[in-house]
Amino acid sequence: MKLSEVQLAQEKLAQLKGKYLVDILADWGYEKPDDQGEWKSGAWAKAELDKLHDAIVMVADAIGGQEKFVHNLGGVTVKKADIGSHGGEALSHRVSLSTKGTFSSWTVVHEMAHAWDANHGWKLSHLLEKYTGGYTSPVLSLARRLAGLSDSGLFKPETKPGRYGRRPGCNAAGYFYGDKPSGSNWSFNRKEDFAESVAMYMGWERGNDLSNWAKARIDRYMLEDGAQDKNFGVDNWAHYRKYFYPEGGDYSKTKRWQFIDDLVHGKIRVT
Ligand SMILES: [Zn+2]
Repeated sequence: MKLSEVQLAQEKLAQLKGKYLVDILADWGYEKPDDQGEWKSGAWAKAELDKLHDAIVMVADAIGGQEKFVHNLGGVTVKKADIGSHGGEALSHRVSLSTKGTFSSWTVVHEMAHAWDANHGWKLSHLLEKYTGGYTSPVLSLARRLAGLSDSGLFKPETKPGRYGRRPGCNAAGYFYGDKPSGSNWSFNRKEDFAESVAMYMGWERGNDLSNWAKARIDRYMLEDGAQDKNFGVDNWAHYRKYFYPEGGDYSKTKRWQFIDDLVHGKIRVT
């Protein structure tokens, strides 16, 4: 944040804090107390604050308003941190966004979904797993890999089309997803499934910042095997169609869409 941007940023910061209980950990400011010394810009840009704010408003609107947002997430502190190769990380009441480059609205929604799940003791992702007919079994997963039934290497994905570990259970967690997620990889598990399902739900055919990405995640399975997708690279898309492509290409026909819709409308009992 540049010194010239700080005044403009105050309003966004106040709204995030006041309406959504979202605290941005400020890494900008003067190096010494009483506005002394040099100004440090830190990792946040004013435009990113706006993007974060808009994504949070989007989530709040989709789940029934700012009070629901506050009730479901219970307050969140957002900071920029060096978290390696991924774009974000989340725990209960805490979201970290990478200092490497900027972040997308998709990442914000994904991480907020983790914080929402975490605030409920990760029960939401358990409920999603059950609702969609999935299960987690590291033993069965290993057995399948040993039997050569996996689309991955034995203990890691291979970096070639058709070998990234996308079939049910072909991932580090032994997560056998049920129904049709919008995608899967070696890191997929019930928590990632929940976060991606929330982002897909919030983007699907709503004409917002997430919508093009949500559609692109589904449309890629209409490509032929070995085709290059401009966002997702080369893979055996046609082969994976049966695992991920929803009926008529309509994501709202999936059990995941229905689960999130039921959840935001209070039809899922979370004990
Ligand atoms: Zn995640």
